[in-house]
Amino acid sequence: MDTDDEPSSSSAAAAAAAEAEAIPAEPPRIRRLEEAVVNRIAAGEVIQRPASAVKELVENSLDAAASSVSVVVKDGGLKLIQVSDNGHGIRYEDLPILCERHTTSKLSAFEDLQTIKSMGFRGEALASMTYVGHVTVTTITEGQLHGYRVSYRDGVMEHEPKPCAAVKGTQIMIENLFYNMIARRKTLQNSNDDYPKIVDLISRFAIHHTDVSFSCRKHGANRADVHTVIASSRLDSIRAVYGASVARDLMEIAVSDDNPARSIFKMEGLISNANYIAKKTTMILFINGRLVECTALKRAIEVVYAATLPKASKPFIYMSIDLPSEHVDVNMHPTKREVGLLNQESLIDTIQNAIESKLMNSNTTRIFQIQAVNLSSANQFNSRKDTDCNTSTPAIKSQKVPVNKMVRTDSRDPFGRLHAYWQDGPCSQDEKKSDLVSVRNAVRSRRNPKESADLSSIHELLSEIDSNTHSGLLDVVKNCTYIGLADDVFALLQHNTLLYLVNVVNVSKELMYQQVIRRFAHFNAIQLSEPAPLQDLLMMALKEEDLESPADENDDLKQKIAEMNTELLKQKAEMLEEYFCINIDQDGNLMRLPVILDQHTPDMDRLPEFLLSLGNDVDWENEKECFQTVSAVLGNFYAVHPPFLPNPSEDGIQYYKKNVDKMPTDEDAQNRLTNSGKEEDVDHELLAEAETAWAQREWTIQHVLFPSMRLFLKPPKSLATNGTFIQVASLEKLYRIFERC
Ligand code: ADP
Ligand code: MG
Repeated sequence: MDTDDEPSSSSAAAAAAAEAEAIPAEPPRIRRLEEAVVNRIAAGEVIQRPASAVKELVENSLDAAASSVSVVVKDGGLKLIQVSDNGHGIRYEDLPILCERHTTSKLSAFEDLQTIKSMGFRGEALASMTYVGHVTVTTITEGQLHGYRVSYRDGVMEHEPKPCAAVKGTQIMIENLFYNMIARRKTLQNSNDDYPKIVDLISRFAIHHTDVSFSCRKHGANRADVHTVIASSRLDSIRAVYGASVARDLMEIAVSDDNPARSIFKMEGLISNANYIAKKTTMILFINGRLVECTALKRAIEVVYAATLPKASKPFIYMSIDLPSEHVDVNMHPTKREVGLLNQESLIDTIQNAIESKLMNSNTTRIFQIQAVNLSSANQFNSRKDTDCNTSTPAIKSQKVPVNKMVRTDSRDPFGRLHAYWQDGPCSQDEKKSDLVSVRNAVRSRRNPKESADLSSIHELLSEIDSNTHSGLLDVVKNCTYIGLADDVFALLQHNTLLYLVNVVNVSKELMYQQVIRRFAHFNAIQLSEPAPLQDLLMMALKEEDLESPADENDDLKQKIAEMNTELLKQKAEMLEEYFCINIDQDGNLMRLPVILDQHTPDMDRLPEFLLSLGNDVDWENEKECFQTVSAVLGNFYAVHPPFLPNPSEDGIQYYKKNVDKMPTDEDAQNRLTNSGKEEDVDHELLAEAETAWAQREWTIQHVLFPSMRLFLKPPKSLATNGTFIQVASLEKLYRIFERC
């Protein structure tokens, strides 16, 4: 409870009431809210903004089997929203209760919810609108000579329905939305008005319902901002709404699953190819005919795009998913915007895989023209030890390539098909000496348009990854279900009837390593917010390594090492930048790092350690070993390590008690644990920071690491034996045990 000298406004009211009754200690009285207040509160939840009113009205029109829906909006919907349709209309007898709460023609028993096909079912939308706006309905049913018009307030008719002339269907007009909710009206007026949202909404409906014509315009405008006619194909309607440039870059996709153990669904849609460029994802999703949002699915698709296509473009997705209606919970969200799905995870998985293979196999993926390539210098690296070089591969001359030899690129095969056309030089030992400069020149000369490098050492590293893959683990990785984190390092996975503990640090290390090799010379950049001076960071790392010795002992030596390492990295800067997007400027500052997995940045607390290891652990002599070790060092840096701050949700909480500046002794810990009820002892700022770091990590593991792992990780055999994957239980056995209990 609040103290007397610092009353909050609510407790002030309570205090005043208490004083009036002269019994200060008594709790405040609980009263029943007036019906009108209850209704208005509920209405404000269902109709959150003008766009949500439009959505409800359009859905009603579609439920009424309309083939034409037109929307007129004034002042972003606050002054007027008018939706007219040519649907079946509303019976005269139903008009009196039309706008009462919970009156609907679509649902009669709760069980019907399981199989409901219509978009509405709660009978709340129209009623809600009458509590927060002025509603007028004009409607005519089949076979009638005239229609009726009637206005509503607070759920009831304001007058008897008046006969009037009407065209087939229903027109519903909402005026002065939120006239009685001043705060809501103000925020809506202040924020950008809702008209663009409404246009977006109608566009989405238009794409899905190709058998309905839609229009949407501002009141008084001659031209509609969305206008579609009944279209012969979905692509036509996309062309009409989003323009030819979008429609051109789309490809059809369809996938289904009917395995009850996994998921049952059918999906069809259109997705953008590699030529499509946009900063924001457009995701138009219909599930069982409902326009909904599904953040998890959207994210999962973005991950596939980011990982599969070299450019950082966001996709355009239209997707219609049909599931057995009993697998969808439509009644989860007040505005029905989100739905709950049974087996969501495996459904998302199947869709991810379908999109991935579509992107990789489609003929419409980005076409690169091979530029004139300086083969002579590059060939020095292409000479291989293996004897199969220069055998069956069709050779092309190093000159300009005819259009029919254009090649595609994809991420599994990041060199596109270039190597197929590669003319290998003679396999002479003499020419095997490493000459990074000439390779670099060769690579640079063919990077226009941006093309992946084509170095045989990278080929070799890639095929080593392939040949070293453990097929059993691959199956586990591809088809597992993520259950959750078991502790700071292990996550729990289910695969068929088996449970596995997986060391996320190890798998992420491997995944990052493989991705570096795959994206070699083809990274997007993470720009550091400020230049990071190598020497200082190296010094930090060296000191950390050597915590035992007194503060300044050996400092001179460390300084020397830091200097030398800085020099070394500066010397290698050009190569690091070119192939790994590790950018170091002339003054020895780190400026940029590569994006290895989209949406994932390394833990910057590990930057000193990373730089030290880049200086110490890389083999700079041999090309292949050099690439391999740099990739491994990067992999280690980007891996999903536990944050440095101890996990506050476990015993680690003791580290956030004030005055604890070193590791507590057992006894201390014991004392602190027993004192843990005292809140003021805790360093809240640090605790909050730690909580954020751990929560972010958990999110990354579930939403970035595991989805990407499913797509890209080829688990090496070592992971089966080094404790990275541990089979913990067989569900069958567990079930048997439970059965006996
Ligand atoms: P719900 O759609 O959940 O049933 P609403 O409040 O949106 O609830 O609508 C109540 C009822 O009014 C609907 O069940 C339907 O019978 C009728 N109705 C609403 N809009 C229309 C329309 N445009 N055409 C025909 N009937 C409509
Ligand atoms: Mg409705």
